[in-house]
Amino acid sequence: MTDPDPAATRVLVLNSGSSSVKYQLLDMADGSRPASGIVERIGEGEVADHAAALKIVADELAAQGAGLDSPALVAVGHRVVHGGTRFTEPTLITDDVVAEVEKLVPLAPLHNPANITGIKVARRMRPDLPQVAVFDTAFHSTMPEHAARYAIDTATADAYGVRRYGFHGTSHAYVSRAAARLLEREPGETNTIVLHLGNGASASAVSGGVCVETSMGLTPLEGLVMGTRSGDLDPAVIFHLARVGGMSTDEIDTLLNKRSGLLGLCGDNDMREIGRRMAEGDRAAQLAFDVYVHRLRKYVGAYTAVLGRVDAIAFTAGVGENSAAVREAALRGLEGLGVEVDPVRNAVRGSASRLVSSGNSRVAVAVIPTDEELEIADQAYALVTDAAQAPSDWNIPLRNKYR
Ligand code: ADP
Repeated sequence: MTDPDPAATRVLVLNSGSSSVKYQLLDMADGSRPASGIVERIGEGEVADHAAALKIVADELAAQGAGLDSPALVAVGHRVVHGGTRFTEPTLITDDVVAEVEKLVPLAPLHNPANITGIKVARRMRPDLPQVAVFDTAFHSTMPEHAARYAIDTATADAYGVRRYGFHGTSHAYVSRAAARLLEREPGETNTIVLHLGNGASASAVSGGVCVETSMGLTPLEGLVMGTRSGDLDPAVIFHLARVGGMSTDEIDTLLNKRSGLLGLCGDNDMREIGRRMAEGDRAAQLAFDVYVHRLRKYVGAYTAVLGRVDAIAFTAGVGENSAAVREAALRGLEGLGVEVDPVRNAVRGSASRLVSSGNSRVAVAVIPTDEELEIADQAYALVTDAAQAPSDWNIPLRNKYR
């Protein structure tokens, strides 16, 4: 493992979700992506379980001329959702690491089991190959204690691991650095608010490359309004629904995670459909949009106060990259905070990182397409090769990249 074949430059990135496995093969020598795909609907008939899904992934890779037995493979990088307080860095997977990740299942009952199965099957297929776990929570582990703590009884919190962990960390790490690069600044000297707005959504405050606050908490339910999740609410809503509504814990869990957010407010969770309905004067869709952008604006204000000085606000993921309307509405009226979106720039569609703020804006507003696969591959590659230089075009010493 310490002396990998220099010709081995490919990293397979596996993202084993609850009902799908996404894979991407990246060649770190030239930045190419020789293979990628997704196996969906795991557990629904044809694909019985994650082991069957991984078998299909292996077959598809072989069919694309990049089988798992390829000597060009240097590592497998696994996305793992919850690292608890135990895992704060990309970690070479051993039996002990798998056992530790299993202990974290109560914190992420929907996600970690699928991640673990992916790891186990991949290790069985290539026991000789280094496999690296990259944790969604890791980037947020630098949050100061005053941001990570909930104000509840400390003994109870500690007994059950109740604290704020944050998620989407791989994306927040990648996007905050990419935003600094777009501004031609050092990440270590750049303060950024990252708004990751996909189906799940989270904000982070990144000070000099280090995460100091994020909107998701013990689980991905806290914070912004999402496709189907409520985000922030008074915790007493839960007692009220149980006592007065007679709902069970599981029913409330499903309500807040699967039937709330944009979907709960207007019946649609896709921002494209909401935009279409708004254009027709649909009031429920308009209200859902308004609640969504109001929450975003509150977080931008709060994180501006947390950071003191903001250099960039970076929008990413499905909604953040594509919805000019959300970007415009969330930042409207923030000229007092030095934020001014340029309507013409903001309306331009594109797949590259770009600035959408006006020339007068003290704070740069950027659209940065996220690339979690590249980030996972970079981190895995750096770990197994002990690379001093970034393999991709970052031009940033890797060892600094993650500090
Ligand atoms: P995930 O969290 O599943 O990775 P994505 O980052 O792919 O999600 O974001 C998916 C969401 O992005 C969709 O539900 C939709 O609301 C939004 N979206 C995608 N394309 C557009 C678009 N052109 N305009 C507005 N919203 C979009």
